[in-house]
Amino acid sequence: MARSRTEVDRRVQEFVQTCRRRELKVTHQRMEIFRELAASEAHPDAETVFQAVAGRVPSISRDTVYRTLSTLEAEGLIRRVEPVFESVRYDANVGRHHHFVCKVCGAIRDFYSEAFDSLPVPPSAESLGQIDSVQVQIRGICSTCTHGKEAMRNRGSR
Ligand SMILES: [Zn+2]
Ligand SMILES: [Zn+2]
Repeated sequence: MARSRTEVDRRVQEFVQTCRRRELKVTHQRMEIFRELAASEAHPDAETVFQAVAGRVPSISRDTVYRTLSTLEAEGLIRRVEPVFESVRYDANVGRHHHFVCKVCGAIRDFYSEAFDSLPVPPSAESLGQIDSVQVQIRGICSTCTHGKEAMRNRGSR
């Protein structure tokens, strides 16, 4: 699943500007790691990012990719998605959005909703600590998995 070239370029440019503003080093490797994440809609884990970037930048090490992702996360330039399955997943989309999570294949897809953006924070959550952001996670079975199941059922009944 890939985003449009223009959208990816826009995000990479924004990324470079933010790094410069904060006096963070913008290395070629860092940019390639961010670009990979920005181009994907899959919320990939570090290993997936490493495999993809290594295809274009053979000199890059697994350790660099893992460390860079942690650094970028600490800087708020990417966001960590709560582990749904075994591995931590990352997201280059730090704007307001919400997630649809497939409980079968683990796919995490972005969706946007003004209604969810303006959800009031309940006092029960406020009493737990300082609130930074509110993100809604909808869990279910994605259409690919649903259709796959239907196809299998149809085959079985024939
Ligand atoms: Zn699925
Ligand atoms: Zn997302």
